[in-house]
Amino acid sequence: MSAQIGNRIWHRGRQRDGIASVRSVAALAIALLGCWIPAQDAVAARLKTKPNQIRIQYVPPTDPQHQALYSQMREGRALEDLQQLLSPLRLPDPLLLRVSGCEGIKNAWSGAGIVNICYELLADILQNAAESDLPIGISKADTIIGPVLDVFLHETAHSVFRMLKIPILGREEDAADQFAAYLTLKLGGSEARRMVLGTAYGYKREVPGNEVSVPVRTLADEHSLPAQRLYTLLCLAYGADQKLFADIVAKGFLPEERAAGCAVEYGDLDFAMTKLIRPYVDMQLAKKFRVVWTRTISARRERLLRR
Ligand SMILES: [Zn+2]
Repeated sequence: MSAQIGNRIWHRGRQRDGIASVRSVAALAIALLGCWIPAQDAVAARLKTKPNQIRIQYVPPTDPQHQALYSQMREGRALEDLQQLLSPLRLPDPLLLRVSGCEGIKNAWSGAGIVNICYELLADILQNAAESDLPIGISKADTIIGPVLDVFLHETAHSVFRMLKIPILGREEDAADQFAAYLTLKLGGSEARRMVLGTAYGYKREVPGNEVSVPVRTLADEHSLPAQRLYTLLCLAYGADQKLFADIVAKGFLPEERAAGCAVEYGDLDFAMTKLIRPYVDMQLAKKFRVVWTRTISARRERLLRR
């Protein structure tokens, strides 16, 4: 702040000289500084970051009911795969992805340098998976993997926003949902579709009928309601690829009135992610994003179906 005040006083002093050439040189310098300083700031900020900053930890559960889940996740190397998937993110400090017991609370949270997903929440997702494959073309396993991926990406978003000091317009919870949806869509093609619809299944489960009735206090929550999160996810997917997700509109899962503006909604998200997050993505490592997913996903689906 004091440096800014100093600069302003200095500029006024130079202008009082009354020499046109000096004024124009000063004006040019100010104009150049205006462009140069933020660019240098961005470069300096990026230099303080590096990829491969994801760390992982499986905390042994205290509740014996979570023992099987803990063992399956370790054997299936679930966190190792997520670590690889997120390794292109350039961060200033390590970010720990952790699974742990939360004393009975179904939740997930993030803090400075940590994302914590509770075994209770993961067990709830497992328990509420579809009983069989769904006619829309996703498997029972997708109704588990989709919501689990979504919750990890959502919490990672909160940590990334803080670590990189990303400016956020609107509610941070909605921004975290959009960050998660964007990365999920980057899986591309049928994998993006399966994960989006698997996640949508999780939200739909929380919307039991065509009408909802909630206490007014629920509207004060910092998160959007499950139905809103569901429709926004479907809208972003449809906006990203109207052919791949054409059936969600044709079958009425996403109302036509909302669908009409989804290309613009996705465009806004794409612009924000490109402007704010992409400078912090190692593009060489990011090329392997889909490869890592494709290499590990088949085994994960099979493992889940054997349960
Ligand atoms: Zn959140």
